[in-house]
Amino acid sequence: MTATQSPGAVKRQRKDHGNGAGLGEKEQLGQWGRAWDVDWFSLASVIFLLLCAPFIVFYFVMSCDQFQCALSGPLLSLYSGKSSIRDLWDRAPSFSWATAEIYVLWICFQVFLYRCVPDICHKFLPGYVGGVQDGARTPAGLINKYEINGLQAWIITHVLWLANANYFNWFSPTIIFDHWIPLLWCANILGYVVATFAMIKAYLFPTNAKDCKFTGNFFYDYMMGIEFNPRIGKWFDFKLFFNGRPGIVAWTLINLSFAAKQQDLYGQVTNSMILVNVLQAIYVLDFFWNETWYLKTIDICHEHFGWYLGWGDCVWLPYLYTLQGLYLVYNPVQVSTGWAVAVLLLGLIGYYIFRMTNHQKDLFRRTDGNCKIWGKRPEYIECTYLSIDGKKHHSKLLISGFWGLARHFNYTGDLMGSLSYCLAGGSGHLLPYFYIIYMSILLIHRCIRDEHRCSSKYGNHWKRYTDTVAYRLLPGLF
Ligand code: NDP
Repeated sequence: MTATQSPGAVKRQRKDHGNGAGLGEKEQLGQWGRAWDVDWFSLASVIFLLLCAPFIVFYFVMSCDQFQCALSGPLLSLYSGKSSIRDLWDRAPSFSWATAEIYVLWICFQVFLYRCVPDICHKFLPGYVGGVQDGARTPAGLINKYEINGLQAWIITHVLWLANANYFNWFSPTIIFDHWIPLLWCANILGYVVATFAMIKAYLFPTNAKDCKFTGNFFYDYMMGIEFNPRIGKWFDFKLFFNGRPGIVAWTLINLSFAAKQQDLYGQVTNSMILVNVLQAIYVLDFFWNETWYLKTIDICHEHFGWYLGWGDCVWLPYLYTLQGLYLVYNPVQVSTGWAVAVLLLGLIGYYIFRMTNHQKDLFRRTDGNCKIWGKRPEYIECTYLSIDGKKHHSKLLISGFWGLARHFNYTGDLMGSLSYCLAGGSGHLLPYFYIIYMSILLIHRCIRDEHRCSSKYGNHWKRYTDTVAYRLLPGLF
């Protein structure tokens, strides 16, 4: 689509040939990616999330701040008449300019690391792939280049953090916890500004007009995004920056700050807090070690950039993925050694499955099938698909190794790891278990969306694949 074509023109064009008429069922034209048409249920969900998601996050954080992380606390207090909504709101720390300065400094520092410090880690870390790398083919048939330097940004940030905590004492290591709610306002402002900017940019100066998708529905386009890979200049890629930094670099710092707060309040860090810090740090480090692989995941390959990614990366991820650590500041649970070992094992086995499944697909795709999976030549299904420019491309779907057990075994491993973070917090409250509930919904929904997309992209080839590998997450069950 050109920048001057209206959404209506695109829809008409699709009706003419976009659904594959005349192309054969299995060769549809550039049909992967998010929806073109918005049904009423999607629209209702979008409006609900746009209006309510910031308050959902606030509710969780405020429950901890005012009710020791009892999720029923605010509701019971309202029901019994002890508090009004106004009281709950007034008791929460509000926006402060001092916090805004910290937040702006943090974002600027991450922008600096992302744009101004080219990767050197790949020059001396064996096995690490960084520097300039190719992304996956976009629906318009483009292959974008990315500067991969997330691991370096993570290391520099954490070395500075630890140097400050141990030697320089420029700021307290509890700084994140101490500003947690005022920081929430700043993160929300950034999230909405970024999403709004992305929408305006898509209309006025898109990076690649052919990769834009307009449904004509304002709310849906705002939430799910229009541009596929919005960039400022040649290298500042919105998706790569916002998903990885500030959100994921911050994740481990937030946990460290929570651990520091426990130490401050109780004179010790509990084994549950150590477990949460260690298991989540493995996950975060894995993400940055494999940032090049991340270029081939759904977020970069299929999602458009809107509120869902922009606000989600700024607010949802740093606030709700770190709830276990926050809970442990208010409830310093010390679990038994047996429980701690079981949690650690579950987390490590889940991580192993997650990593190996992702690794097998990555290796298979990188070598075009010229590799070994579980000691044997991999089996696969040959596929073809068309990009929006009408060009035919070839692809392969792996059916060996973990990919022969279920179609999304990487999600299964991820869910085992997620459960382990929650179990680390003991069984006193529901709040630490939010993560596994959320991840289950997210990954099952993602699995269904991905399969729908792959089915549109690969047509009959996808059907052959699902006939061969019958289960999604759990062999024999689902
Ligand atoms: P995948 O890495 O599984 O990627 C799915 C894509 O892989 C499909 O769209 C298809 O793309 C390709 N594919 C599907 N089946 C096969 C096959 N058999 N052989 C080869 N290629 C195949 O999914 P995600 O990007 O969602 O997830 C990546 C990881 O990130 C997962 O481990 C997930 O658990 C994790 N994750 C974590 C989240 C979090 O918030 N913590 C959120 C989301 C994901 P193509 O068009 O190229 O064929």
